[in-house]
Amino acid sequence: TNMTDTDVAIIGAGPAGAAAAARLVRLGHRVHVVERSHFPRFSIGESLLPQCMAYLDEAGLLATVQAAGYQSKNGAAFTRSGVNTAIDFREKFTEGWGTTYQVERADFDQRLIQAAAEQGARVNFGVTVTAFHPDPERPYLSLVDEHGQTSTLSARFVLDASGYGRVLARQLDLTRDPRLEPRMALFTHVEDRIDDPSYDREKILIGVHPSDASIWYWLIPFANGRASVGVVGDVDTLNGHGDSPAARWQALIDAEPRLHALLGEARPLRPVDELKGYSADVTTLHGPGYALLGNAGEFLDPVFSSGVTVALRSASMAAPLVDRQLRGETIDWQSAFETPLREGVETFRAYVDTWYDGQLQSIVFHDSQPADVKRMISAVLAGYAWDRDNPFASAPRKHLATLAQLCGHSPSAAGLTAQ
Ligand code: FAD
Repeated sequence: TNMTDTDVAIIGAGPAGAAAAARLVRLGHRVHVVERSHFPRFSIGESLLPQCMAYLDEAGLLATVQAAGYQSKNGAAFTRSGVNTAIDFREKFTEGWGTTYQVERADFDQRLIQAAAEQGARVNFGVTVTAFHPDPERPYLSLVDEHGQTSTLSARFVLDASGYGRVLARQLDLTRDPRLEPRMALFTHVEDRIDDPSYDREKILIGVHPSDASIWYWLIPFANGRASVGVVGDVDTLNGHGDSPAARWQALIDAEPRLHALLGEARPLRPVDELKGYSADVTTLHGPGYALLGNAGEFLDPVFSSGVTVALRSASMAAPLVDRQLRGETIDWQSAFETPLREGVETFRAYVDTWYDGQLQSIVFHDSQPADVKRMISAVLAGYAWDRDNPFASAPRKHLATLAQLCGHSPSAAGLTAQ
């Protein structure tokens, strides 16, 4: 078997893997990324949050993203039965970026890993990690390429950025119940042909089904006249809406008046895809000689577009710790990585839970909150979930519950699916 050695082996070349790779080569380490597919490859997860711009910048990847000509994004718009509201991320409690992009991930992910490679990371496409052999000093990976050729890659540290591949979670039996309902998404790309002057291309549009508030939609416009259009809901409920993914997607879009009107002239660009079982969690994000990044660790729910931001945040936190460990320091990964990373993830979890239990929907569609409260919520939805000075980030459940009551939310009348 062919054997290769490196300082840091990274499984997966998505945003988490690319950002960690770029940062670590800049810190002077040999980095070897192993990616199962060939880029460009389709991926879902197209609406970024302003907070992630800082992580791209830290990794030396912001310029390549800014040069790509992506659709700019400054907030989120919401629609439910003809009620339209919006949150502008530039008006927010926390300092930092207030705008970002909506990106076709095939292009975005390719640019990031390309830039990491140009900075010095070694990247192998079409190579799958089949096993992880843990060791605090010399962990190694078993690999297989598309011709069935096997090899090993040994490293001083392994970062798992394999996303839904969840390589280390499976290998080390780390998976645990994500504590979220099993939902699914149906989605496609369209040439949107939207010409409604009241439609704001600089915001993601989140719609809510008029008679079933547990079903929601995304409309994510891109710069080239295309858009990503998806719908999320309970698996059995969505499956009851037609005989095929395409029929279900169309029937559900037609049920929401604003999306139906906006997308009346839209032309499909690819088959309707479906994805389920994407919520995942692990018992630990680190162990001797390894750490888990992005979706390879935890993923909650797509509703607030937090996935890529969490992925980039995890890379931004882990890379300097790997650097210090390789230079001989002893790192407490629990207190330096897992606990602080999970704080912000738990904030997002509070927003996800209160979206589905109806409280956050009551808030979002009640458009007359005090300006300072709105700025605090805007900051979290812009990705600044780790700002402990923001009460809506540090104690979200308490503050959202109080505010939802003020907005007239009553749990019994919400009409949402049972927990
Ligand atoms: P990925 O981007 O999944 O990259 C992992 C890479 O690892 C892949 O390229 C894969 O090929 C590779 N890999 C896997 N297994 C192996 C193996 N054994 N060997 C080698 N390579 C391997 N996030 C947002 O920020 N905004 C959104 O609007 C958004 N919408 C979403 C909508 C839906 C329906 C879903 C399910 C998710 C959404 N997300 C969104 C989440 C987003 O898709 C992910 O959080 C993000 O892609 C995670 O990045 P990553 O780098 O951790 O993993």
